[in-house]
Amino acid sequence: MKTPKKRGDSRFYELSCISCGKSCREEESSTRCPSCGKPLTVHYDWGYIKSRLNRYSLRSSPIKALKYLDFYPILNLDLVVSLDEGGTPLHRCHRLAQEMGLRSLSIKNEGVNPTGVFKDRGTLVEITKAKEQGAKAIAVASTGNMAASVAAYASIAGLPCYVLVPEGTAIGKLSQALSYGARLLQVRGTYNDAARLTEAMSEKYGFYLAGDYAFRVEGQKSAAFEIIEHLDWQAPAVVIVPMGAGTNLAALWKGFQEFYELGFIDRLPRMVGVQPEGCAPIVSAFNQGLDRIIPLEKPETICSAVAAGDPPDGLKALQALRESGGCSLALSDVEILEAQQHLARLESIFVEPAGAIPIAALPHLLKTGRIRPDEVVVCLATGNGLKDPKAALKVLPSPATIEPSLAEVDKFLRLRLYEIRAAGAKDGGKNLFEQVPSVNQLVERVKAELGVKLTLEYARRALQLISEFVNKGKPITKADLQYIVETVLKGLSEHPPILHVEDFQVFTSLHGRPEAKVKILFDGERVGSTASGVGPVDAVINALKAAAQSRGKLFFELIDFQVEINTPGADASVEVTMVLRDSKGNRVVATGTSPDIIVASVNAFVEGYNVLWSRQQT
Ligand SMILES: *Cc1c(COP(=O)(O)O)cnc(C)c1O
Ligand SMILES: [Zn+2]
Repeated sequence: MKTPKKRGDSRFYELSCISCGKSCREEESSTRCPSCGKPLTVHYDWGYIKSRLNRYSLRSSPIKALKYLDFYPILNLDLVVSLDEGGTPLHRCHRLAQEMGLRSLSIKNEGVNPTGVFKDRGTLVEITKAKEQGAKAIAVASTGNMAASVAAYASIAGLPCYVLVPEGTAIGKLSQALSYGARLLQVRGTYNDAARLTEAMSEKYGFYLAGDYAFRVEGQKSAAFEIIEHLDWQAPAVVIVPMGAGTNLAALWKGFQEFYELGFIDRLPRMVGVQPEGCAPIVSAFNQGLDRIIPLEKPETICSAVAAGDPPDGLKALQALRESGGCSLALSDVEILEAQQHLARLESIFVEPAGAIPIAALPHLLKTGRIRPDEVVVCLATGNGLKDPKAALKVLPSPATIEPSLAEVDKFLRLRLYEIRAAGAKDGGKNLFEQVPSVNQLVERVKAELGVKLTLEYARRALQLISEFVNKGKPITKADLQYIVETVLKGLSEHPPILHVEDFQVFTSLHGRPEAKVKILFDGERVGSTASGVGPVDAVINALKAAAQSRGKLFFELIDFQVEINTPGADASVEVTMVLRDSKGNRVVATGTSPDIIVASVNAFVEGYNVLWSRQQT
């Protein structure tokens, strides 16, 4: 390395390739090695850094990412783009530690960063570098979190930001990125498809390419510095990090090494990298002792934040795992979702699924002796749970809806509905009944599987729904039973239903249009009606509406209709949600579940109608 140079007018760092070792000027590239295409890394002139480091202020000033400016490759400090990132709490997990039999377990809660994710630390450096280099616009590919983070920093820097995400990106991340003003495209494909496209786009249009590159690593090191400060300038024994691109694990390792280099700590932690089973290319390479990553074409996991099938920094992460004497393992989505819930219940930290992978890994690591009970362990909780609220709901029961009456609250408490367990992802597909059970069998089974004691009245209503499933030839799985029980328990209301469907048929008219014939009981009176529609569901709903309207003067409109498939696969059940609104502005959200979409729609409609009716009578 050259002799120390003054910051601002010359370099005190150098970019070079991690594979061929060639150095490279940042004007030429700060993303990949121009000769071999492998990742770049930043080397510092430690003599220079040491000579100007103010150790007193480093030890005494408050913890946050901006206090480590000396450790970032920034030339012009006037251009720093910051949202006051870092300084996140290292939460000591007493309850979780006790349960697992660990002496010291802490969680670095990165979800409290400005955009809810650790990536803000890297974006601080990356967007500052973009300004230094005179970027006119930023382009970034992301599974969602980097999109939101880069969009936020680009926005405050006054730079347009183009973002490419895979289709189906978590709703919290999407809405953040759009709110920060990102020009966002959803790509039909994976994260890696989006990344390839973004690279080509930035090349063609001259946009600054942000992403998992060398400058981001420099910013993300600060989490390691902070952990050391929190632990009174000691390194933990083990640090457990979820891996997607592998960048963050590599960055933490680089941070620990730098503090070691400077003599701030006298030993280094072992790095443990964890991934979901549905996308674990780095874990596989590590465990098979490979020196390269075998890319995965189609990642399949609930942890969308780490669904990088061809991880850009996989090699750096592998190297960090090996150098640190650490290890690597993969966990199932079910284990991860359970760990997410567990963390929220025991420590009140709500993370997105990727952030819970380290917690899911703990029992395995302890059992196999890869961490010892007396070691100081730190887990990275990488992202806030609000980023992907739908993921957690997959393993949570949907809460009952009541009329605003104390009588219904009483029922809720008496039935202890808050204790209902979700079938969730675990054993959701387990078959419970092939035939309609007796009332007692049902009550026992519901108690055993879901933790709720049904009264006879509710059990009878549940049996009715169960027979609808069984008559369609569909066995009742645990997930079905959960939806059925939730549906009947939602009807806590005292009001007897006014509308009851006796029978319906759907056929295609001579004009090729779907038509439906329905028979209903309205307040005990039999009424029939026929109607057509754009599709069979529409036809049945129209016929039901016509039949009901011929008797009850209840005017309403259907303002929303959603279909969700509960258990993917051949014998899935369908959940239909409808929102009805009457002329007084009363709104009712109703759901129906069945293996048949038309039956589910009818059930939802009938529930909604009856609730709306009873609303109008009170
Ligand atoms: C990006 C991300 C990760 C993975 O970090 P990499 O640097 O891609 O390995 C983990 N968790 C969350 C919440 C993330 O957003
Ligand atoms: Zn190279």
